[in-house]
Amino acid sequence: MKIGIIGAGFTGLSAGYELLKKGHEVSIFERDSHPGGLAIGYKENGWDWTLESFYHHWFTNDYAILNLAKELNYNVITTRPKTSSLIKNKIYQLDSPITLLKFSKLSLAERIRMGSVLAFLRYNPFWKPLESRTTMQFLSHTIGKRAYKILWEPLLKGKFGNYADEISLAWFWARIRKRTTQLSYPEGGFLKFAETLTNKIKTMKGKVFFNVSIERVMEENNKVNLGKFGLFDKVIVTLPGFIFSKIAPQLPENYKVKLTNLKGLGACVLILRLKKQFFSDNTYWLNICNSNSPLLAIVEHTNMISSKYYNNEHIVYLGNYLPPTHPYFYMPEKELLKTFDPLLIELNSNYKNNIIGMRKFTTPFAQPIIPVNYSKMIPPFETPLKNVYLANMQQVYPWDRGTNYAVELGEKVAKLI
Ligand SMILES: Cc1cc2nc3c(=O)[nH]c(=O)nc-3n(C[C@H](O)[C@H](O)[C@H](O)COP(=O)(O)OP(=O)(O)OC[C@H]3O[C@@H](n4cnc5c(N)ncnc54)[C@H](O)[C@@H]3O)c2cc1C
Repeated sequence: MKIGIIGAGFTGLSAGYELLKKGHEVSIFERDSHPGGLAIGYKENGWDWTLESFYHHWFTNDYAILNLAKELNYNVITTRPKTSSLIKNKIYQLDSPITLLKFSKLSLAERIRMGSVLAFLRYNPFWKPLESRTTMQFLSHTIGKRAYKILWEPLLKGKFGNYADEISLAWFWARIRKRTTQLSYPEGGFLKFAETLTNKIKTMKGKVFFNVSIERVMEENNKVNLGKFGLFDKVIVTLPGFIFSKIAPQLPENYKVKLTNLKGLGACVLILRLKKQFFSDNTYWLNICNSNSPLLAIVEHTNMISSKYYNNEHIVYLGNYLPPTHPYFYMPEKELLKTFDPLLIELNSNYKNNIIGMRKFTTPFAQPIIPVNYSKMIPPFETPLKNVYLANMQQVYPWDRGTNYAVELGEKVAKLI
């Protein structure tokens, strides 16, 4: 069959790879000049490795993508970086049962209570009975209001903004169940990995077109018409639902409403290149648990991956999930840094003297909102248009979206076809 795939993120690439293995004729169309989608990266002068525009790592149980790396003979690094939380201007390492037991912000009874609740979530394999409750209801009842307010409420609010109280417990369960203290990372960066997969697809006679934006998907006499790119037997769309509903005018109104009812947030990230380390205690990931913080997380990438691959520069992401109408999306880099400056100075009074450069990246759709009973809202792969399939991160559930699930999604939709 002649199959068209829209998007060369990890869903599109892995679907294409699987379909080529089965002998189909595959063409992938990508709007960007490079593959990787949200995990795309870039390289500054002097860097040996590419860096993701948005911070990325894998958990060591991200089996779908780790198996893909193995199949491609691609080297993966595994490290044990430090994750901490900032609470009332103090940093606490909080990334294991032992560090939770030492967490002095809570009484011993509160720590044991929280530890037991998190252990229940981690070792309970059944998420379905949890999905009708919100994370907020469950946590404030089980771990207690004070502990919830100190640790989890600011994180949920920081990550989901006005949607924080709606987030399903199934999503939180997945975060706790899946997290590993060790993290993995593809040697050379995610862009290099995506390029390796793209090259493999090309050697299998698959076609990958860059700088091509598909503006129309039309059903036509049992085929799918992609305008000047021709007719296909089947087409896979890997874009968010609201974009699919715009480029496929034949979709029925009620289906479009279903797609646009699935909400999401964008991401805005400022990357600092520094001459010196930002967190001298080697923290890789800092969750900011202060309410009204201008930032959700500070991620010092080079506390996970050696700075030697980036010309000995130290790389720090300043990250937020926000609606794409938020002023941060429109602020020039320097102005955005000014907004974060008081917080950054508190953490490292000298950081400004170390700045080599900075870059800002934004994307309008980065994090799906997962309300209660989300399983009933997820659109299937098959769409109302014959031979057109939808496979995107809004179908990833109960797990939090990620490149691992993009690969899984691509493999599943390819199998279905
Ligand atoms: C801030 C942030 C942090 C993250 N952290 C992690 C992490 O640590 N680990 C992890 O595994 N994942 C992480 N993710 C999630 C991960 O990047 C995504 O889940 C995954 O990349 C989604 O892949 P996809 O192929 O489904 O979609 P996308 O990556 O969105 O791919 C869709 C592709 O379609 C292209 N496209 C759009 N419109 C058109 C058009 N009209 N025509 C042609 N092409 C088009 C886009 O350019 C894009 O390349 C993070 C994401 C963000 C934003």
